Amino acid sequence: MRGAVFLGDRKVELRSFPDPTPGPGEVVLEMKASGMCGSDLKFYRPPPGAAQAALGLGSMKDPFIAGHEPCGVVVARGPGVAEREAPIGQRVMDHHYAGCGICSHCRVGWSQLCRAGITVYGVTAHGGHADYLKVPARTLVELPEELSFAEGAAVACGTGTAFSALKRMKLCGGDTLAVFGQGPVGLSATVLGVAMGARVIALETSPQRMKLAREFGADAVIDATKEDVVSALKDLTGGVGVDLAIECSSAASARRAAVRCVRTWGTACYVGEGGDVTLDVSPDLLRRQVTLIGSWTFSAMGMKECAEFIAKQRIPLERIFTHRWRLEQADEAYRLFDQQAMGKGVFLF
Ligand SMILES: [Zn+2]
Ligand SMILES: [Zn+2]
Repeated sequence: MRGAVFLGDRKVELRSFPDPTPGPGEVVLEMKASGMCGSDLKFYRPPPGAAQAALGLGSMKDPFIAGHEPCGVVVARGPGVAEREAPIGQRVMDHHYAGCGICSHCRVGWSQLCRAGITVYGVTAHGGHADYLKVPARTLVELPEELSFAEGAAVACGTGTAFSALKRMKLCGGDTLAVFGQGPVGLSATVLGVAMGARVIALETSPQRMKLAREFGADAVIDATKEDVVSALKDLTGGVGVDLAIECSSAASARRAAVRCVRTWGTACYVGEGGDVTLDVSPDLLRRQVTLIGSWTFSAMGMKECAEFIAKQRIPLERIFTHRWRLEQADEAYRLFDQQAMGKGVFLF
């Protein structure tokens, strides 16, 4: 089979791999869609292995097949996998982590929090940018029939991450939500926030992404290159500040602004990976009773809940994709995605 690997230093290569055979407890998926996630750039850009090491995900010798938003169809079951667990032909997304399967985090579907060492498909094991993907059967989440494979791929990381963060922030209809960054996760937070009944104010630096945010229902869009964003958000909320702010850009200035723009008793949530931030703790947090949350992806059942919400609300998530690629275009696809000016990209098979 073919698989796309990140060689580091912005190099992507299409290589040949043996077709996978499922071992005990495993299944093989025929890939139908494999999404491109903003966090892929953290593995695409730096020297080989540096990003995995920095994120505490272990060292990498040979590059693995990239892609951690896999969506496809079950084509083979290994020993010990029951038919009803993974029927052949079932449309599935993959919760792209595996832990020990025994600890309390794994048992409740948060395997990425396992302390026994985790596997991240597309990062520390072969991922979805390939014709086939081998994963444990317990990582599968059924794809609702209303969703396309591409939409399932989005839910498998970027959109699911936004959904889970909004749930943790306890968004209520009528809240005002500021969304910092309109990449694949931020744009998902915008469209989901609107569907949950919030008034969404989107912040972005790329004109194309600002346009997408407007199309996805943002009530106002702030150009973060031109305006003092905290004052702009205060102006849009009668001087009070927003109820909730979600930070998806990883920029230190946006992180600071996300905390400062919320009202007294407001909640800010950090979702963007890597980097740092400096806060003036007393005025920024304590004196205003601000809740600050760090949120990393979602549980397997959180992913199912997200997919069902999108189906029920008839959210046109397909429109999040501005680029659809074939696997042989991987180099071109990542070169364009690297500019962080477009909507989401996906490989279709
Ligand atoms: Zn575990
Ligand atoms: Zn991701």
